[in-house]
Amino acid sequence: LGLVVLFLACQHSPNSEKDASKEIDQQVDELLSKMTLEEKIGQMNQYSGFMDFTGPQPNEGKAANKLEQIKKGLVGSMLNVHGVENIKAVQKIAVEESRLGIPLIFGFDVIHGYKTVSPIPLAEAASWDLKAIQRSAEVAAEEASAAGINWTFAPMVDISRDARWGRVMEGAGEDPFLGSEIAKARIQGFQGDDLSAVNTVAATAKHFAAYGFAEAGREYNTVDIGTSTLYNVVFPPFRASLEAEVKTVMNAFNVVNGIPSTGDKFLLRDILKGKWNFQGFVVSDWDSVGEMVAHGFAKNGREAAKSGVIAGSDMDMESYHYVEQLASLVKDGEVDEALITDAARRILKVKFELGLFEDPYKYCSVEREKETIYNPKFKKDVLDMAKKSIVLLKNENNTLPLISSGLNIAVIGALADDKTSPLGNWRIAADDGTAVSVLEGLNAYNKNNYTYSKGADVVTGEKRFTRELTINNTDKSGFSKAIATAKSADVVIMVLGEHGLQSGEGRSRTRLDLPGVQQDLLEEVYKVNPNIVLVLQNGRPLALPWADEHIPAILEAWHLGSESGNAIAEILYGDYNPSGKLPMTFPRHVGQVPIYYNHKSTGRPKLPSPGEVFWSHYTDEKHTPLYLFGFGLSYTTFDFEELTIDNSYTENKTVSVSVKVTNTGRKSGKVTTQLYLQDEFASVTRPVRELKAFEQVDLNPGESRVLSFQLQDKELGFYNNEGEFLIEEGGFQVYVGEDSQAQLSNSFEL
Ligand code: BGC
Repeated sequence: LGLVVLFLACQHSPNSEKDASKEIDQQVDELLSKMTLEEKIGQMNQYSGFMDFTGPQPNEGKAANKLEQIKKGLVGSMLNVHGVENIKAVQKIAVEESRLGIPLIFGFDVIHGYKTVSPIPLAEAASWDLKAIQRSAEVAAEEASAAGINWTFAPMVDISRDARWGRVMEGAGEDPFLGSEIAKARIQGFQGDDLSAVNTVAATAKHFAAYGFAEAGREYNTVDIGTSTLYNVVFPPFRASLEAEVKTVMNAFNVVNGIPSTGDKFLLRDILKGKWNFQGFVVSDWDSVGEMVAHGFAKNGREAAKSGVIAGSDMDMESYHYVEQLASLVKDGEVDEALITDAARRILKVKFELGLFEDPYKYCSVEREKETIYNPKFKKDVLDMAKKSIVLLKNENNTLPLISSGLNIAVIGALADDKTSPLGNWRIAADDGTAVSVLEGLNAYNKNNYTYSKGADVVTGEKRFTRELTINNTDKSGFSKAIATAKSADVVIMVLGEHGLQSGEGRSRTRLDLPGVQQDLLEEVYKVNPNIVLVLQNGRPLALPWADEHIPAILEAWHLGSESGNAIAEILYGDYNPSGKLPMTFPRHVGQVPIYYNHKSTGRPKLPSPGEVFWSHYTDEKHTPLYLFGFGLSYTTFDFEELTIDNSYTENKTVSVSVKVTNTGRKSGKVTTQLYLQDEFASVTRPVRELKAFEQVDLNPGESRVLSFQLQDKELGFYNNEGEFLIEEGGFQVYVGEDSQAQLSNSFEL
């Protein structure tokens, strides 16, 4: 009867968003009033189900137990169930066999595509192209929702300054401003304007908080972070995610300043649900409720469940502690039932917004699934995204673009012939071998003659293409053939880097070099033919000073997804003029890490005059990056001039900055104009510069454009150590240009 009433309540169409939300609130309340304590706790329980639910089901073991619990209304969500038939089968159990028939919400890690794969998120961030990034998320949502999925555990909005951490591939890099803009674009792409539409999915801003600051870049490691960094660097992309109306937030696994995030009342109740008024729900990370025991924060599962709920973690992913402990904790007076009701309310609300109560099978059309999965129409979008993600790091003597006929080209490196690695990590559903390899991309493209020689594998072992840990190859037996091939070639294209599974969760590294024997291969080939174009495929910044010094052309091509080889070929031949800009600083040496552009002044900022000791330095390496944040070359050149400032802050709280940008080269190209601000002194020290605005425009040779940027409180202020947002009087320097060392500057006073 409960459901019938709800269906009727859905009939009359609301006239505004607010009304719709109110109506949903009423429906949720009505449903809650019918639910037992156990059923409410059930909503807070999420299980994983990588299995086939369409055939006969097991009648004992863990899986059988999960199904039994669904029937009892003790499960609110499943993750890792995908494919329409599979989802339908599980949903049917919840809807037809549980007392209230409350539909499950199905979550999945759709990180950069479901079956058709976009570049890894770090690569997408290098595009600085918010429209393309949004489109990429729309494609992912369309394909995933056609496979029955309602909710993605993306975007990861963790800022990180540590290239050793494997999950930098999954984020938008080191900068909170760029990271915030990208978070909004991704959430808008996933959720669309109407969450109840069949081609949208609920998004998750993760991992709250500071997961990207794990000590020494080691996965899941402790985080000790100052308040200033927490408020000014870590929080902004989460804040932005809330502005974009993200429906869910995921806990981080890690301990922040002594408290596991999952049990951190300050993070969840005071900040997220308090100060920021987050109305969606918080999902734990995988067993992060249970891990509070291992962290030494909770005595046992019961205490862990108690801490999680009290702190504000609404849904428990796979630890079982909520479903097993919460009812008795409430009955024993240790957890207030109101907290349970609030958590269930938040979860049910998202289910209503997705339209799951209207029709629990609305994402389950077999026809739509068939026509959507791997639909060739998506290729255009992921190819566009891939081209825009590539960053040209070096191009001496216009080595690139290559001419398109008459060349004998040697192609070297195992990654050149790899159709799986370019898919990168976190593409759980996409099939191995579905990426266009570099060799395929090149061969399809023009009339040059290619000879391929692998040289050496990157990784080795039978399981090198699975998610098992990868082992670096040490075998050099293929070197001699590769060297011979390179010797007689006009140009050598070397495709080197990390295998797609060498970054991602649990893939921290202590070295930022080319894994295995690839550096040796590069140097050996260089001896016989220095005319090398180095195409890098990797999931994190690498430190490659030798390559930078010797190799004439270097292209950062990341793990670019399904259309990888086609995108690389278009860039190599100049049909797309590279426009990507690094979203993370590339160090010279791993010992410089964490290295990032928006650092504080050391207090010894001046460069020494010759012969003088520069105290804030290393004795064995420069302290500067190899490649700057925001850096990336083009096949044309741009010039910036006439940086003017109109300071009308006292009248209308706005400082307007304008600049003229001109294409001074011979090719059309896209320029990413970046505006950095330095707050010269403040009650809490501010970074040497901070990105505050950027804009991309396409310019023909000789063409100019005047761009203007508005700086307002949001750009001019900062958080103090009490978390208060302040705008302070004083001087500001403005820098505008093509990277984080832009020299054109002007200043103003507030
Ligand atoms: C990751 C999350 C992910 C979850 C579910 C965890 O290990 O940290 O980001 O969403 O697994 O697959």
